[in-house]
Amino acid sequence: MRPHYGPTPTLWVTPRRPGPQRARARTMDTMTEHPRRVLLAAPRGYCAGVDRAVVTVEKALELYGPPVYVRKEIVHNKYVVQTLRNRGAIFVDETEEVPEGATVIFSAHGVAPIVHDEAADRGLKTIDATCPLVTKVHKEAVRFAEEDYDILLIGHEGHEEVIGTTGEAPDHITLVDGPDDVADVEVRDPSKVVWLSQTTLSVDETLATVDALKTKFPLLQSPPSDDICYATQNRQVAVKQIAAEADLVVVVGSKNSSNSVRLVEVALEAGASASYLVDGADEIDPAWLDGVGTVGVTSGASVPEVLVDGVLEWLAQHGFEDVRVHSAIEEKLTFSLPQELKRDMKAAQG
Ligand code: SF4
Repeated sequence: MRPHYGPTPTLWVTPRRPGPQRARARTMDTMTEHPRRVLLAAPRGYCAGVDRAVVTVEKALELYGPPVYVRKEIVHNKYVVQTLRNRGAIFVDETEEVPEGATVIFSAHGVAPIVHDEAADRGLKTIDATCPLVTKVHKEAVRFAEEDYDILLIGHEGHEEVIGTTGEAPDHITLVDGPDDVADVEVRDPSKVVWLSQTTLSVDETLATVDALKTKFPLLQSPPSDDICYATQNRQVAVKQIAAEADLVVVVGSKNSSNSVRLVEVALEAGASASYLVDGADEIDPAWLDGVGTVGVTSGASVPEVLVDGVLEWLAQHGFEDVRVHSAIEEKLTFSLPQELKRDMKAAQG
């Protein structure tokens, strides 16, 4: 598994909305003694899987009318969930909370097969917004289980994606939650063991876990391709590059967003003096800026750009108007909407 390195990074100045004249003057005074700038990571924010999941709920609301039920948070972001709730989405924890015959959407993190069975038993209409890259890991788990492998799933205990993947082959999967777990891992046959991973982990920590597993099980096999998804890897590469120059890195994302939490960890490991996770500008503590010259800004894969704009506005109001985009990698991937939704949309068009 290798990080996905893109073309040579480029730096350019993004024209931002000019702030009040007084703020500008204060900034220039300060800049002469202590230059203040923002390094804005790219890529950041929405990935293809999150975009597809959010659009799925929006289109379902348009097509079927509210309410539309969504099992779990469609993506791990408070703002996104509240915005969809305001439009008529009802978020539930379990399928049994959905009225019989209603429509339920499964979140981007994926569900275990038993959840599909429960939905069928209740006569629910289901739309599966599981990210195709999570589905890929589910399929790998099924295939290796059919071949009777022991599967070591590297991931975080209790995360929805891990629960969903484990549900594909519960008798074959053992969760490994970081290198410290490796000592306790046992398998039936050390010559028939493979590792898979959650899609939103730290690339470096996962490699450390794999190394520890390989020391214990030298015949450990690797998945056919990286499970840590392109978006997770690219956001980590980008934040590493800005963190090396930043006194402070602000990561926009929710606390239950695994890939956002990892960005804070990666920023600190890459040299940022401090890094904080915030849901939005209102959570920034002005004291974090004491003695700071360069602020790095990025956002997790479930974060809409409007929240990053809010953080940049806040920073501009506090003397950080000079924003430079640091582009590490260009992303072009998109995913089409779930088949069942596309079919209904086509039928509605007549
Ligand atoms: S972070 Fe990766 S796996 Fe998760 S939804 Fe986005 S593209 Fe899919």
